[in-house]
Amino acid sequence: MKKYFYLIILFAIITASCDIKKEQKANTEQQPKKPKNIILMIGDGMGLTQMYATYKVKKDNMNIARCRHIGLVNTSSIDELITDSAASGTAMATGEKTRNGHISVDTAGKRLKTILEVAEANGKASGLVATAAITHATPASFIAHNPDRNDYEAIATDFLDTGIDVFIGGGLDHFDKREDGLLLTDSLKARGYDVMTEKEELLNYQGNQLAALLYAKHPPKVYEGRQDFLEKASNKAIETLDKDKDGFFLMIESSQIDWGGHDNDADYVIQETVEFDDIVGKVLDFAEKDGETLVIITADHETGGMTVTGGSLDGENLEYHFSTGHHTPLFVPLFAYGPGAEEFTGIYENTAIFDKMMQVFGFENKE
Ligand SMILES: [Zn+2]
Repeated sequence: MKKYFYLIILFAIITASCDIKKEQKANTEQQPKKPKNIILMIGDGMGLTQMYATYKVKKDNMNIARCRHIGLVNTSSIDELITDSAASGTAMATGEKTRNGHISVDTAGKRLKTILEVAEANGKASGLVATAAITHATPASFIAHNPDRNDYEAIATDFLDTGIDVFIGGGLDHFDKREDGLLLTDSLKARGYDVMTEKEELLNYQGNQLAALLYAKHPPKVYEGRQDFLEKASNKAIETLDKDKDGFFLMIESSQIDWGGHDNDADYVIQETVEFDDIVGKVLDFAEKDGETLVIITADHETGGMTVTGGSLDGENLEYHFSTGHHTPLFVPLFAYGPGAEEFTGIYENTAIFDKMMQVFGFENKE
């Protein structure tokens, strides 16, 4: 009798594992090999410690942890161990290392084509969302070309020359309160953009070409008045771009994790990272339903040399230390979900993020 009992158990285990294997196989077979859409999410200054602190604050439960494919990224710029957001943004956007302060130009000032421009040239829709002025280093790296990241008015002008479909952030002054007196919002309207300056309008927007400049300069901190801006902006960008049958490329940046790091302000860092992880959850929900979207979550560099030196097991009263007010050269983590995610495991340069996006999109070359 006992013998039959073990045979039944054994049989049950074998069939169960076969079922799991079959299911996994089915999943990968169902999943298209090539993503139709890529959503690149950048936590500016978000190193492993910033993520760990958020993981603890969220009671060991983070949306980013839903991604099974993980990599580590080296962020140095072309001639410095420690990068700034411009050089790192350029590396991810163009596949080329450049000098700190440069926006998608090489060391000789030559324009470097970005993944957003290549996606546009291949008939895809494109968008940018940031919790900073949309002319700031990271979003600017995907659309503008300038050796000086602080040349905001020239960077704003570069937005006119691309086919970008949606951009949402701050920086209205760089478009409308300019030294040259130009009103770039009129130029945008002339190019068919729906120009929006009030957050309340965002929810009901149903058009296809949106320039939403919702703050004169940078948006405030998440807990000092920005509230659900990033959620609304990300949802609206995805909803609008997803109408394009050829697919889309979207970059969403949580810009102010970095500013908390520069201030050595752990609360600021964690509040911004917690919000970022909330938005990651919404984006992964979309990707899970959509099935044709690759989501990539990473950082351009770590800021503050942040570490945790104590606290209780439940994550209460964590003790934080910062070793610098600047960026550090530490590896940053990268998480990927969806078709092509398997290409993003391992340790590699930030420039390889561009190469891998080109590869999984099936874009031969960027010219
Ligand atoms: Zn910074």
